[in-house]
Amino acid sequence: MNEKPLQVAVIGGGAAGFFAAISAKTNHPEAKVTIYEKSNKLLSKVRISGGGRCNVTHHCFDVRELVKFYPRGERPLKKAFGMFSPTDTVEWFESRGVNLKSESDGRMFPTTDDSETIINCLMRETRKLGIGIKTKANIKSLKKLNSGYEMDLYRSGRIKADKVIVATGGSPRASGFDWLRELDHEIEEPVPSLFTFNMPGEPIKELMGVVAEPVSVKIMGSKLQSSGPLLITHWGMSGPAILKLSAFGARELNEKDYEFKALVNWTGERAEQEVRAILKEVVSDHGLKKIHNVNPFGLPGRLWEFLIEKLDLGEDMIWQNMGKKNINRLVHLLTNDEYQVQGKTTFKEEFVTCGGISLQDVDMKTMESRKSPDLYFAGEVLDVDGVTGGFNFQAAWTTGYIAGKLR
Ligand SMILES: Cc1cc2nc3c(=O)[nH]c(=O)nc-3n(C[C@H](O)[C@H](O)[C@H](O)COP(=O)(O)OP(=O)(O)OC[C@H]3O[C@@H](n4cnc5c(N)ncnc54)[C@H](O)[C@@H]3O)c2cc1C
Repeated sequence: MNEKPLQVAVIGGGAAGFFAAISAKTNHPEAKVTIYEKSNKLLSKVRISGGGRCNVTHHCFDVRELVKFYPRGERPLKKAFGMFSPTDTVEWFESRGVNLKSESDGRMFPTTDDSETIINCLMRETRKLGIGIKTKANIKSLKKLNSGYEMDLYRSGRIKADKVIVATGGSPRASGFDWLRELDHEIEEPVPSLFTFNMPGEPIKELMGVVAEPVSVKIMGSKLQSSGPLLITHWGMSGPAILKLSAFGARELNEKDYEFKALVNWTGERAEQEVRAILKEVVSDHGLKKIHNVNPFGLPGRLWEFLIEKLDLGEDMIWQNMGKKNINRLVHLLTNDEYQVQGKTTFKEEFVTCGGISLQDVDMKTMESRKSPDLYFAGEVLDVDGVTGGFNFQAAWTTGYIAGKLR
């Protein structure tokens, strides 16, 4: 008599769900694998990701370096990336006819610059493997049976499966995880990550469009610090230096209710003493020139003007007349320029949540729940998130791949 095939339910038709389903069917060809997606759209975030180009992964092939881009999950991800890393992502897509290219900042995209290429590849693979897909299948509850699981759908219907992979993505509200909390999983409270800083009262906004790099930014009263390019926007500040801070400080800044002071060092990582020494040289070499006309740190012209106007020295001030006091004021301004942040803005609608299933409840070598056997997690539903640059998809591919092995 034929045994019933292993039933595998993958909940969520996003990047992690597709990768998990493909991995499950590849590793267990005898199994019946079905993706259940609540909406009528599959891979919808892949479609809009990276401005429609899909930043698939990052050109960072050293796992020890790679994990540093994950404010949540850094240590536990080491094991997981050891099993499926960006190198494997590149190979996986290339062996299926999708070539990836790197940009100068390390982001990797399909050479077509079109996210449809990634979607078509994943869809083709699911069809080829005979993976079932059910859309408008919104899973409401998950109940552990003696063997396997039973799931209720919102409208009507009940599904049974021997193994379940949850790949339902992040949720901005803690209540979005209630159905998983019921199986005893610890949920790390969701809070936004990857946002830009609003500075409603700061005149620097007039310089919108100006990019300064590299700068370093600190949050006053905390240990948070980052460096990189900074973009001045209509609302305040953005760019990699700010986005990194928003990700690494997601919880702390949420606790401050997004009201805090940002200290900008416009000279990058230079210490006050070094900046003072450079300014002394300028005084001796260009003493008779106006400060407006010598921009010793190569800052964008409009920014340099803006900063020296803040010191209110007058149009005609020349370097040799600055005196010790004004040089000190300039040093302080260049290295510790203070801005009041009041609120945040989501970065390019690229909403990423920090929080989700606590990694303490997950075996990162298998992605299986430590609380409920035969239940696996993949993607943003986990308390894992990366900075912008392809790291979030990489986490989805990696955790999906591992979960699909079904131990
Ligand atoms: C605009 C935008 C651009 C982005 N660009 C990039 C980028 O270029 N590179 C990068 O690395 N990251 C990017 N990200 C982040 C990245 O998209 C996510 O980290 C990634 O999509 C997470 O994949 P996932 O499969 O875990 O979750 P999702 O993509 O959110 O998929 C989860 C799926 O589960 C379904 N679902 C939820 N609950 C249920 C339920 N109860 N029953 C059935 N189905 C359910 C949802 O409808 C959804 O389709 C971007 C995000 C956004 C919003």
